[in-house]
Amino acid sequence: MIETEHLTKRYGPLTAVDDVSFRVEPGQVLGFLGPNGAGKSTTMKMITGFLAPSAGTARVCGHDIQREPLSAKRLLGYLPEGAPSYGEMTVAGFLAFVADLRDLRGERRRQALDRVIARLHLGPVLRQPIDTLSKGFKRRVGIAQAILHDPPVLILDEPTDGLDPNQKHEVRTLLGEMAAERTVIISTHILEEVDALCNRVIIIAAGRLLADDTPQALLARSRYHRAVTLSTPQPEPVRQALASLPGVAEVEVDAHDGRLTAIARDGQNIFGAVQQVLQSGNFQVRELQLERGRLDEVFRRITQDATSEVPA
Ligand code: ADP
Repeated sequence: MIETEHLTKRYGPLTAVDDVSFRVEPGQVLGFLGPNGAGKSTTMKMITGFLAPSAGTARVCGHDIQREPLSAKRLLGYLPEGAPSYGEMTVAGFLAFVADLRDLRGERRRQALDRVIARLHLGPVLRQPIDTLSKGFKRRVGIAQAILHDPPVLILDEPTDGLDPNQKHEVRTLLGEMAAERTVIISTHILEEVDALCNRVIIIAAGRLLADDTPQALLARSRYHRAVTLSTPQPEPVRQALASLPGVAEVEVDAHDGRLTAIARDGQNIFGAVQQVLQSGNFQVRELQLERGRLDEVFRRITQDATSEVPA
């Protein structure tokens, strides 16, 4: 559905995107992760044909975005970062304008407009200029223009950036629904979003592709994969008991809330052994949790290694 080969963008001496190749298959929701300035937006702009690459190619359903831009763009919906342009237009005017650009006419046009207005709950704000809308509504208008022609491929640049927690939840629910029928790339620096929405993750930093995996496989790379975290009123004896277990590499104490985390040696399953040692020692435990891993830690490790490698 989407394919990039050696995609590269240089701005003078800066290589913003450096030889990035990947394929996204139907049904995949790809989280495009990276710190600010990693090259996420630049990559998306090249895939969607808004920016010409310095080298390499991008294809959408087999159509080269440079050589067959019209065929490729017909299959694409793109939500650029930030608010929609044309802020002085009303929502209805803007959507009509997009329908014109997409060459939607007659009954198909009416149905397409009705469908996105209903789906994104834009009815109450149709006559309002986009500039006067809240951020949440602006984002919904952006998503509406991206899906108006019902494209099989969606490329969304930071779709929940700058929204409050309720709006984030709302947009995520919507994206989850839309992703079921489409191939989607979502760029974000919000890790919970990846966990909530994506079945594949690419991590880039300093323009380079550093990881391409499922969220589960990335979690398995975490030092907290299969760690056991607990809280107890007897932290010191419990810490000692946990540390004595052969499968436990180390016990961390959270300076903030005092919880203990037993780190599993080589990702071993230590949950049973931990339960046993707690029971046999008759320790009081308030809460006991098996961890899947921490994406933030994996993300930090991967991206920091990459940026510290960059020669001075
Ligand atoms: P991200 O979306 O991951 O935050 P961007 O793709 O926006 O990253 O930017 C990647 C790098 O390219 C950054 O260092 C940014 O400053 C630089 N950059 C982006 N656009 C331009 C431009 N038009 N001219 C020069 N440098 C740019």
